[in-house]
Amino acid sequence: MSNHTDPPRQRLTVLLERAHSGEAAAHQDLQRYETLIVGHLHDAVQAGRARIEAGSASPSPRVAAEIANLARAFHGETGTLTPAVEDAIARLTSGAPILLFAHQPNAFPYDGVTAQYHLMNTLQAELACSEETPVAIHLLVDTDDAREPYFRTSRIPAPNLSSGAQTTPVAPAFRKVSMFAAEAPKEERLRWIVNRSIQNYRQLQVLARSMGINRETDLDVQEVTALCLDAITGTPSTSKYNARLISTLANIIWGYDTLFIPYSELLPYFADSISALLDDEPMIRSDYNRYANETGSLPPPLPPHGMFWLICSNCQRRYPPLSVQDAKPACPDCGVRGPDPRASIKNLVEDKCLTPRVLIDDILFTIELPAVLAISYIGSADHIAAAGALNARYLTSQPHLLWRPRPVRFSLAELTAIRRLGKGDNPPSLRCLQLSLTGRGSLLYSLLDSAANSTRESWARHWARNPSFSGICISTKPTYISADESLFTRLVGAAANVER
Ligand SMILES: [Zn+2]
Repeated sequence: MSNHTDPPRQRLTVLLERAHSGEAAAHQDLQRYETLIVGHLHDAVQAGRARIEAGSASPSPRVAAEIANLARAFHGETGTLTPAVEDAIARLTSGAPILLFAHQPNAFPYDGVTAQYHLMNTLQAELACSEETPVAIHLLVDTDDAREPYFRTSRIPAPNLSSGAQTTPVAPAFRKVSMFAAEAPKEERLRWIVNRSIQNYRQLQVLARSMGINRETDLDVQEVTALCLDAITGTPSTSKYNARLISTLANIIWGYDTLFIPYSELLPYFADSISALLDDEPMIRSDYNRYANETGSLPPPLPPHGMFWLICSNCQRRYPPLSVQDAKPACPDCGVRGPDPRASIKNLVEDKCLTPRVLIDDILFTIELPAVLAISYIGSADHIAAAGALNARYLTSQPHLLWRPRPVRFSLAELTAIRRLGKGDNPPSLRCLQLSLTGRGSLLYSLLDSAANSTRESWARHWARNPSFSGICISTKPTYISADESLFTRLVGAAANVER
């Protein structure tokens, strides 16, 4: 009998965080994941160039045409069909490569969601060569609902509140159905969230002044209120409201040519591929488990029955198939019997009664949406690496850039929190910093603290320095912080540790 024991399995997300904290052993462990890009901006550019040269960075003409149609419809409907967007649509249909960022259209998302647009814009400029400039795509994963473990409502960093943050909660009524089918948030609710955030920001200004921080801020109450409330006009669903808000920011205010594509509307065109993947489910399951054993990683557990969700035709509730024997499962909310999931996967997808779960989604993206680079948060590393390993076995690999966008400049909340921490232990301030420096702060707060254009400029300066994807994104020298460098380094370390 051997005394040998395997090292404990670990989540890749944790491994990445350890590597980003500078642990050499973690860097070594990461070598096993060949398709993941976690280094510097230049590493991503290099990987992207190789993809373009290999001619494997564009979807098929059929898929490109469908995406172009959906983009034209979305941007037309939301008033964001700018000349730059039209140009991107034209490039797409002529076979240009794509950059792919897939993420839910959250209500007041993390600032990090919109950070992806600055990154994609930078990559577009770096990769524009003899081929056409790549088309940046935000695939709006509006098939998720708010009960997903990875769905989080963003928070506003606030050292003046005991929890260190203010929440921006969406009403519970929206939490059971897919985002594309959930009704739009009420204007009254949005106004309440925005006003409360403005009020808190003003309190923070008073606190900062009392501590001698007299920083000029860009606060433009009218601009922020208009951006958050105008997006509600004529939007039929939660996902459309959220997507319109971020598209207005990306396409109108920042002037980017990012295309926004609702996944729920694209899925029916992938019905054949989804059907084929779900037919191969036993093989995918066994390969997934083999991947976990071989790499010693700990990917998310697979659902016991069926790697897909059913969507109730009556109330749009999303629910899992309960068992393989259960031919016609009932909706847990309204009790209406669903379709027979064994009947025809293809028809169910086309009728929007079935959506794939995350692993199938990830594999599907590589098949149908091959890109120069796919871009995600570090938090998605485990399922993305698992899908990447399966893809490499079946067909092709897709380079995937994983990073954690952090704040691009010190906001008033961080300045105040650091100043208070410099004077002694202050749990709310520490919590506030941890939230902010780990990239969990809300876009709403960022808009209050910094005019959208200054944020874009800060990101441009940041990327011009070929930074590491793990690095802190402060692009201006924090001369106004009285705490010394070592204190700040310690704070950043504490902020990183909270993710473990
Ligand atoms: Zn129902």
